[in-house]
Amino acid sequence: MNTATMPRTFSYTTLDKEVRRMPTFDAQAFAAQMSGDVLAPGDMGYEDARQVWNATVDRHPALIARCLSERDVQTAIRFAASHRMSLSVRGGGHHIAGNAVADGGLMMDLSGLRDIRIDPVARIAHVGAGALLGDFDRAAQAHGLATPLGINSTTGVAGLTLGGGFGWLTRRHGMTVDNLLGATMVTADGQLRTVSAESEPELFWALRGGGGNFGVVTSFQFRLHPVGPQVYAGLVVYPFSQAVRVLRAWRDFCATAPDELSVWAVMRKAPPLPFLPASVHGSEVVIFPLLHCGDVEAGERAAAPVLAFGEPIAAALGAQPYSAFQTAFDPLLAPGGRNYWKSNNFSRLDDVAIAELVNAAGRLPGPECEIFVAQLGGAMSRVEPAATPFVGRDVRFIMNVHGRWSDPRDDERVRAWARGTFEAAAPHATASGYVNFFTEDEAERVSASYGANYARLQALKQRYDPTNLFRMNLNIAPHGALRAVAMPREPMP
Ligand SMILES: Cc1cc2nc3c(=O)[nH]c(=O)nc-3n(C[C@H](O)[C@H](O)[C@H](O)COP(=O)(O)OP(=O)(O)OC[C@H]3O[C@@H](n4cnc5c(N)ncnc54)[C@H](O)[C@@H]3O)c2cc1C
Repeated sequence: MNTATMPRTFSYTTLDKEVRRMPTFDAQAFAAQMSGDVLAPGDMGYEDARQVWNATVDRHPALIARCLSERDVQTAIRFAASHRMSLSVRGGGHHIAGNAVADGGLMMDLSGLRDIRIDPVARIAHVGAGALLGDFDRAAQAHGLATPLGINSTTGVAGLTLGGGFGWLTRRHGMTVDNLLGATMVTADGQLRTVSAESEPELFWALRGGGGNFGVVTSFQFRLHPVGPQVYAGLVVYPFSQAVRVLRAWRDFCATAPDELSVWAVMRKAPPLPFLPASVHGSEVVIFPLLHCGDVEAGERAAAPVLAFGEPIAAALGAQPYSAFQTAFDPLLAPGGRNYWKSNNFSRLDDVAIAELVNAAGRLPGPECEIFVAQLGGAMSRVEPAATPFVGRDVRFIMNVHGRWSDPRDDERVRAWARGTFEAAAPHATASGYVNFFTEDEAERVSASYGANYARLQALKQRYDPTNLFRMNLNIAPHGALRAVAMPREPMP
């Protein structure tokens, strides 16, 4: 921290959003205890460090603490708590709401905690909390192993895991949280804790979907599964004129598809993919991306019906490395775009819901906007809803309306389309939602998303973070429900 240019005091935002002043000496003393850098506005690297994936997030922390060790995490938490300073935690910086960046507060940047160690015999991964999905996939695939993660390789393992986590392996191996074996974390009192089914099991339960509400995780341990390295995967593209017919066929196919196969549906304007005729580029299409995580030939057989939902424009299917498919969508989801999402969960997709989605896709407000519907079910649905905070075990499809654009003058137009699409689909959706997809204006959806698990989460929040130090998240507010709420022993998934 370059304090030579700083005045004797600087202003910061408290947990209660008051603006106070702090002696610069206090920040210097804090920085002196850290092994990683502490950045203030004007410092080299500060501007880059405050950026996150969603370019609509433009916040200025008073300080950015680059944590390089568990001890740094403890020091930063104690510093923030002692000043009641607004505190945020950045893993991969992908959450759409931008909660990784505390405006005027202390932003803890964990991207330096990126170590990954794979134990191929025990099939366990030890993963630093700053690791990205691509780091994890590459390390595990070197041994032909993987655990369910998301579809974009620059997403952070930490945020994805803490909110639930799903991807191409979820129907076969469950949610990311179903494969979490343990974690090391620092709670609001600054204590370093090892949590697992045996050690602090209630805190371990809360981590498996409760978001960043209970402390700062420094490392995770995951169960791994043999996957690939070659899998059967790719895309099938249909003309938009067949949308209703092919989406109904897809919906019916999903009901009986094997767990190894996941087929998602995306409606968007066709990107200039080399296997698509140039005449299609830029016009609306229905795309079915799919992956079969078992034997390649079995995958080809299982996925064959996807080619017969209608008359496809083109398909690019075949054997390819699992790790390659895990980066296939990165170019469409690069950081730096303006983004606004609205998301619904569905236990079933009836014809009316499909008609609403097709109607909205006919009015896409830009070439980067899309409606995607992920297929869930399979292994993730065979876990008891109370086994983890992620309660939506009845969810068969998660829809995400991706509003994505680059000109700030389009902000309201694209957001209005995303909200309208969400509202049209909402009567057909479940009460739950997926906290990892919520925007900053959806705090009121949090309690419904945890359903019957919310009271237990609130009681644990009261126990481990009674002052709500960790509130820059999809917040579970603590309340004095500790004695009123029974604490069931959690069944393991
Ligand atoms: C392009 C893109 C693709 C995506 N695809 C998928 C997908 O396929 N499947 C899926 O399930 N989700 C997906 N997501 C959603 C993703 O799971 C969430 O955005 C998730 O929060 C990202 O984690 P992060 O660490 O990158 O985010 P960050 O913004 O860094 O963190 C999000 C929040 O998590 C908490 N947090 C982060 N690190 C820690 C930590 N170490 N300890 C305690 N709390 C912490 C904090 O509250 C923080 O505000 C996608 C998101 C994007 C942008």
